[in-house]
Amino acid sequence: MYAVLAVFLALTSLTTYVLYTNTQALFRWSLDERLRAIAAVAATTFDPADLDRIHGPESVPSNAYRTAVLRLQHIRERTPRVRYAYILRQTADPDTLAFVADADSLDPDRPVDLNGDGVIDDQDALTRPGDPYDVSDFPEFRRDAFTTPFVDPNLVEDQWGTFLSGTAPIVGANPNGSVRYVLGLDLDVTDFQRLTNLALLPFALFVAFLLATLTALAVVLKRMWQSQVRLLAEIDRQKDELLGMIAHQLAAPVTAVVWSTEALLNGDDGPLTDAQRASVGTIRSVAAQLGDLVTMILDVSRIQLGKVPIQDAPLAILALLREVLEVIHVQAREKGVRLTVSLPEALSVALLDRRYTRMAVENLLTNAVKYTPAGGSVTLTVERRGEVLRCTVRDTGCGIPASEQGKIFGKLYRASNVRNTQPGNGFGLYVAKGAVEAQGGRIWFESMEGKGTTFFLELPLRFTLSS
Ligand code: ADP
Repeated sequence: MYAVLAVFLALTSLTTYVLYTNTQALFRWSLDERLRAIAAVAATTFDPADLDRIHGPESVPSNAYRTAVLRLQHIRERTPRVRYAYILRQTADPDTLAFVADADSLDPDRPVDLNGDGVIDDQDALTRPGDPYDVSDFPEFRRDAFTTPFVDPNLVEDQWGTFLSGTAPIVGANPNGSVRYVLGLDLDVTDFQRLTNLALLPFALFVAFLLATLTALAVVLKRMWQSQVRLLAEIDRQKDELLGMIAHQLAAPVTAVVWSTEALLNGDDGPLTDAQRASVGTIRSVAAQLGDLVTMILDVSRIQLGKVPIQDAPLAILALLREVLEVIHVQAREKGVRLTVSLPEALSVALLDRRYTRMAVENLLTNAVKYTPAGGSVTLTVERRGEVLRCTVRDTGCGIPASEQGKIFGKLYRASNVRNTQPGNGFGLYVAKGAVEAQGGRIWFESMEGKGTTFFLELPLRFTLSS
């Protein structure tokens, strides 16, 4: 959920950023166009022939100079945001232009508080005709300004605000002659930037509100989900407890039935007729199966509740394996599956839970025979690897579909390729895994559908002092 939120956050930030920059670029574009148009129109009010009469500071008292400055002031008054208006002339040096006239410089020698900061200092110095203007840092300006209306792509910021500079060539009556003058207008855009930000503020607030709402929603959803999980876990626990309780209650009567039928079969209550013996035999085997199922259910509920009653005791592993193999040999023979066994010559007596160890090994072998068709083979290899006992059960059976291999140790899970063809309840591997892990061991497998399966079981070997 946090990942989704992070993606959402990133997307929202990106959208806001793109929208912000695009809006600003749009505003800027329209401003550029406006400034170009104003400069172009204003430039037509000057005649280069008049400007040719203005030279150095000595031209200040001349009529030509006065007329040019007053016209610049007029342009400035008509366009309120224009803060500076001036005319520049080309010189022999391409990196340097020269001031011709400036709207503020009607009388350049008169002290004036140009920036309105209350003091008259160098910052208030007025330009005089002929003053140089360095354009070496503005190659685009040098290239374009004398041919077409031009707007500086960079905003200029100084102590008086933020400005956008635009120029237009002063062509005069002879549009084919070489252009020597440009009219420059500096537009005060300090406000414009503030207004752009203001226009975007509601949007930014809306996005922030949306984000906050979504975050709150995500938190609420997570809380609900967590409480749901807790509730389900509790229900599951109660169900396992109930299952365990029922199995526990069933275990005693079922065992009683098995014992009683065994007593009857032993003739403890007198001889039985053949028919009676057959019936009691059936009851005994059904009761025994029921007993196994009840034990299995009890184990499932114990594993689920994390209460596997491991009872470590000295165990003669080889003897136990031979006991299990007696049963498996019969199953393999009946099914026509070849069983190959490789046991070590000797194995020390180790501390293990007899019932759970037997159950796990027997389950792997029973499954191998059950899921291997007649003519196939099952191989059991038992080896000691340091302080670990490893049992490997390899078969050439139906295998487990790759897509289901992750679920095979799950409670009650049966793979789709055996579900309708082989009997089973899906408890065995779940209990085997729980039993092995409760003893500190591990169980895993490799399988290829249609080729066979190999199960590995490892149990830690802890030895008694005498062994
Ligand atoms: P089941 O009673 O179905 O045998 P298990 O818990 O012992 O239950 O096994 C769970 C499932 O694992 C089986 O239903 C089967 O799909 C798969 N499985 C276990 N052992 C083998 C095997 N040796 N070969 C193929 N599939 C197996």
